[in-house]
Amino acid sequence: MNKRGDNFQSDLLPVRMLNEYAYCPRLFHLMYVQDRWADNLLTVDGRNVHNRVDNFDHVLPDPDETSPQTDDEESSQQGQNPCPDEFPVITRSVLLSSETLGIIAKLDLVSTADGQAVPVETKRGKVPDNSQQSWEPERVQLMAQGLLLREHGYQCDHGVLYFVGSRTRVDIPFTAELEARTRQLIQLARQAANETKLPPPLDDSPKCNNCSLAGICLPDETRTLTNPSQIKNITDVRRLFPIRDDALPLYIQEQGAIIGKSGKSLLIRKGQEKIGTIALKDVSQLVLCGNVSITAQTLKWLCQEGIPIIHYTTGHWFCGLTTGITIRNAFVRAQQFRAAQNPAKRLALAKAIVAGKGTNQRTLLRRNATPTPKRDLDKMTNLLAKIPSARSCKHLLGLEGNLAARYYANFAAMLSPRNSNAAAFLQTNKWDFTSRNRRPPKDPINALLSFGYALLVKECTVALLAEGLDPWWGLYHKPRHGRPALALDLMEEFRPLIVDSAVITAVNTGMITIKNFTTSRAGCVLNDAGRKAFIKAYEARLDQLVTHPIFNYRCSWRTIIRLQAKLLAKWLLDDIPQYKSITTR
Ligand code: SF4
Repeated sequence: MNKRGDNFQSDLLPVRMLNEYAYCPRLFHLMYVQDRWADNLLTVDGRNVHNRVDNFDHVLPDPDETSPQTDDEESSQQGQNPCPDEFPVITRSVLLSSETLGIIAKLDLVSTADGQAVPVETKRGKVPDNSQQSWEPERVQLMAQGLLLREHGYQCDHGVLYFVGSRTRVDIPFTAELEARTRQLIQLARQAANETKLPPPLDDSPKCNNCSLAGICLPDETRTLTNPSQIKNITDVRRLFPIRDDALPLYIQEQGAIIGKSGKSLLIRKGQEKIGTIALKDVSQLVLCGNVSITAQTLKWLCQEGIPIIHYTTGHWFCGLTTGITIRNAFVRAQQFRAAQNPAKRLALAKAIVAGKGTNQRTLLRRNATPTPKRDLDKMTNLLAKIPSARSCKHLLGLEGNLAARYYANFAAMLSPRNSNAAAFLQTNKWDFTSRNRRPPKDPINALLSFGYALLVKECTVALLAEGLDPWWGLYHKPRHGRPALALDLMEEFRPLIVDSAVITAVNTGMITIKNFTTSRAGCVLNDAGRKAFIKAYEARLDQLVTHPIFNYRCSWRTIIRLQAKLLAKWLLDDIPQYKSITTR
């Protein structure tokens, strides 16, 4: 059984999903068509409630059979019994389906007597404080269960909603009106199950506040980008997801270490020595650098828990990624490949990418370079102005190259070490950075930039995979063997914002010094201490809270990268009309 609470593999519509459709058609599409899932406190609580009643798997007695039972575990508790006393035969966790109705359901509990049946649906929380003591999606779900029972020969004229939080039983009469509404919704939901386009989000609905998929749906963000006038004020955009993640990436750089499992924690050992343990709930991704092993049992566990394992070479080149089966629908990938064949779509994304990166490079220079390189800033402004009228990706490549040349020519002006160690580092003149070089980098700053970009491409790859996109198939960057081209597309706007900024901070604050590099004729590399220090600076930058430049709420840079991956997927799915890159002022 999956987290959605069903394990149905047929064309029949799960009645649980009928509830979601009645709540919000977009939620239904995300859950049922796109197979998206996210937990919040309400869904975890609801699943726990259902797990208690789903422990059994029983078959209903024939309508003319009855044999009273009194084994209901809830009956011994205070509050109301979930089952009506006049229907004494209790059968739990009953699977029923109907080709005629086109639905399938696992009923929590059914009370039967004398050919009559009453479905009992258990709900988390307290009884709703409204005139019907229930919400429409719950009533429709129960009515659908009633229709299934009727199809199986029972008389069924009402059902029961049992609210665990208040231990309250609410009788729901199966009126002609409720039946008609339920049949209508079954039909609409079955049609919607075949749609590939996301329905629009609800308009400023309080339902979104409790929706577990709000962070995937992004209702206000979608409305803002689709029709800005719908949002009266940019401060109306609700941030319906956490400001930052509690879980963080775990880097293992100890050569020869082995990662194992100990209860619900990761156990890191080297030989017989225990290096440390960390609870899995605190880990968002496991990054294995170089010669680090992981047990098969731990690998499987991480896949099941949706924690990606990232593999770096000893020299910290991003070389692979292991993930579980996360998103099982292929629509967004199909749209991605279609867009990659569409020159207009490719050009539109490429313009956003190049403009975002160039603007952020210019802003970083304007803010940090001393003295201010006014001439080059003006040149960059002129180059940026040409982007909207670029007619091809080739033309954009030229503009991007010219912007980069102006930017890197002034990069050293942003480096001003503020403590004695860093000043000594400056005096040695070993990092006479004048231009970008790589493979291998020849000086310390290029080594730092290359290392940082390798970290960033990992972050973007994970974010794209989480949205069901193929990181290896780019729109601006051409697919090439071993190159995560779409991750490179996504990371362009973030290079100056995350990596370059972390490099400047690490150098200027003395977190990185000359001792952190090994330079030879073959190139320049960071040593272990340098890598650790830079990872610290890089992760601190990702964790930094900022005001989102478009949506005006506070969140971390890491969240913004994931948000951009979600918006890229939405643009590919035609849920929003354009992809906007993130730029700072
Ligand atoms: S956040 Fe709102 S619009 Fe989006 S799926 Fe949930 S209820 Fe529907």
